[in-house]
Amino acid sequence: MRELKEVFDKNIAEIKNLDGDINYSNIKYALTDDVGKKYILKIFPDIDELALAKEESRIFNEIGGKLSFKVPQNINTPDGDPFFAHEKGTAKLLDFIDGVFISEIEQSASLLFSLGEKAAELDIELLKINSPLIASRRLFWDVQNAHLSLPKVDLIKETERRKLALYFLDRFQQFAFPHLHELRHQIIHGDLNDNNILVKAGEIEGFLDFGDSSYGPMVTEIAVAMTYLMFDKEDPFNDILPLLQGYHSANPLTPQEIELLPEFITTRLCISLCNSAEKKHLGQDNGYVLISENPAWNLLEKWITTNPNKIKNTFLKAAGFEPIDHELSKNERHQSRTRIAGRSLTLSYDVPIHMSSAAFQYMYDESENTYLDACNNISHVGHSHPEVSRAISNQIRRLNTNTRYVYEPFSKYGDRLLKHFPDKLSKIFFVNSGSEANDLAIRMARTYTGRHTVAVVEHGYHGNSSLGIEISSYKFDGKGGAGSSSNILKLPLPNLFSGKFSTGKEYAVDAIDRLERHATDPPAVFIAEPISGCGGQVPLAQGYLADLYGYLNANRIVTISDEVQTGFGRLGGWFWGFEMHGVVPDIVVLGKPMGNGHPIAAVITTPGIADSFANGMEFFSSFGGNPVSCEAANAVLDVIEKENLQSNAKEVGAFFKSQLLRLKEKYSCIADVRGEGLFLGIEFLSADGVPDKEKAILVRNELKNAFILTGTDGPHENVIKIKPPLCFNTNNVEEFVTKLDRILKKNGS
Ligand code: PMP
Repeated sequence: MRELKEVFDKNIAEIKNLDGDINYSNIKYALTDDVGKKYILKIFPDIDELALAKEESRIFNEIGGKLSFKVPQNINTPDGDPFFAHEKGTAKLLDFIDGVFISEIEQSASLLFSLGEKAAELDIELLKINSPLIASRRLFWDVQNAHLSLPKVDLIKETERRKLALYFLDRFQQFAFPHLHELRHQIIHGDLNDNNILVKAGEIEGFLDFGDSSYGPMVTEIAVAMTYLMFDKEDPFNDILPLLQGYHSANPLTPQEIELLPEFITTRLCISLCNSAEKKHLGQDNGYVLISENPAWNLLEKWITTNPNKIKNTFLKAAGFEPIDHELSKNERHQSRTRIAGRSLTLSYDVPIHMSSAAFQYMYDESENTYLDACNNISHVGHSHPEVSRAISNQIRRLNTNTRYVYEPFSKYGDRLLKHFPDKLSKIFFVNSGSEANDLAIRMARTYTGRHTVAVVEHGYHGNSSLGIEISSYKFDGKGGAGSSSNILKLPLPNLFSGKFSTGKEYAVDAIDRLERHATDPPAVFIAEPISGCGGQVPLAQGYLADLYGYLNANRIVTISDEVQTGFGRLGGWFWGFEMHGVVPDIVVLGKPMGNGHPIAAVITTPGIADSFANGMEFFSSFGGNPVSCEAANAVLDVIEKENLQSNAKEVGAFFKSQLLRLKEKYSCIADVRGEGLFLGIEFLSADGVPDKEKAILVRNELKNAFILTGTDGPHENVIKIKPPLCFNTNNVEEFVTKLDRILKKNGS
């Protein structure tokens, strides 16, 4: 450090390199001179950075003396300029601010409050600063530039985490970005992270490193400070409040600024995580860069399980604002629904849930609760999945038309989907719902065979259209049903748990016998689900379909596999349910999960059946297979592949089933646990072996009170059905099983 001797006449006794991030645009040293005084030396090799450093110095000079805490002060050279030439670039010497980083100590509420006050004090002074140079910076760390981090999301290796980052960055674009211009802007420090805040004798001593200062929404200043100080906290949303309150007491925020705080915090977390991913990718993952990675993920993972209303209201209340009260509007909404909705449109629970939003396997109500969704098989890849949302919004902005035109999404998706089927199933018809798809499938089979009768399986459900009800024993045999019509041949459900026979073969022999007895009016078609959903999550007995299909094929009776519930990898071991039975149907019907909630369904069939259907009458569906639906469905396939959701269903499903079987050993009311992958059922019987509907309903309601959503089904409504989004994880399973255990313990075996 020859230069220091030459310029300042100081003898340096100790030099410590402070560079954490090797990509930083300046080089930093801690120096101690021969009389023990400490300094910071900053060297700027880059000319652009030097201009900014000069601007920073000017700002320090303007605000430095006015603050009740320290910011780095330049030490001028004898000729009055702080900058001097150094062999590595242009350098400046700064006063050393003594103290410990706030990250290294216990952060009491009063310390956080005081930090908030000081941050506010800083911003009040910075508001007076005008700096076109700072205002022109485009830093990726700056939350308003979150889009600069989007390309880095793909560098996050862990799928669960990658989608979280994408989700929160997407939220920012949707919910915060459009409002940025409404917020108060000014120069801010921009990086009040816990390693830039010094504490001495229990007080805030000073703020360091103005290298990320920018011109942006004022509230992002406190958002950044909150982000890092929420790390590793037991109850981050409450523990951080003194910091917010301290800031708000000295520099009041508006309700709008506070409502957007959660978005700014999660965005900053994502920016940091994307930066870490990039550094790892570039092999620059030294300890410093990754220092905040684990606590940041932990915080983001906690965030996704917390109702956004709760976080927003917690911040609003802490600042003395009224939280948004949904109670009044909830009552009004419920009353209005009751007034206008037909009575057959039922609600899931006696005390209904008013849903507000959802993300992946979590659903958030209008109050502040988070529910674990264990039964929504429509949100197959997870609620509000950002990839699906984007696919839909991108396409609807470009083109949405119908299948009478040629457009790319139709063939792109169609070709891709058909690759999942055996070769003979090579024709596709898109519609909007499972009901419509089954309706069309039956119509095709009737046209193909010239026959009319439909063979169905007891308790099956295939749709809400007139034909759907006619072929659904679950409906025509159920409450309000008119029984089976003359063109329906009903076959027993091959149920190994509570049925007549103990093998699939016996059921097949019985079914063939019934078909033979009907030989004067042979059916056109046989339709079945591979695992009967409404029948109570009952897998068709192994061997049943294999034997029965042999007979049906030989007699030219069209076979339909209704995969509306079981398709797209839900069963873990198989992409489609028919594969589990070792058969290939003539028609496969798809629905529910296909568009993750966007209405798209399909009939997949053979060229022979498709050709016979082309008898002159056009088939047209206004919405079926439109470009937006195809893009939604294409994104679903993308996510299934990228996030390995089929194997997740297999692994997590097997773990889930094993845990439920453990409970079955413990509680005699659980008579059966069955299903495949993430399509499971728990059947309850009373001590005398009778279907225990009350118990199943009690369990369903108690699970709801414990914030887990399930449903009941089966002809006796004594089966709890479990069919969550496929991103369900082992922690979710553990939560489910622990709560179920507690409920069963409390409510007798
Ligand atoms: N088939 C099966 C097996 C179903 O479970 C359902 C819906 N529950 C349907 C068809 C009808 O589908 P949608 O509600 O989309 O009309």
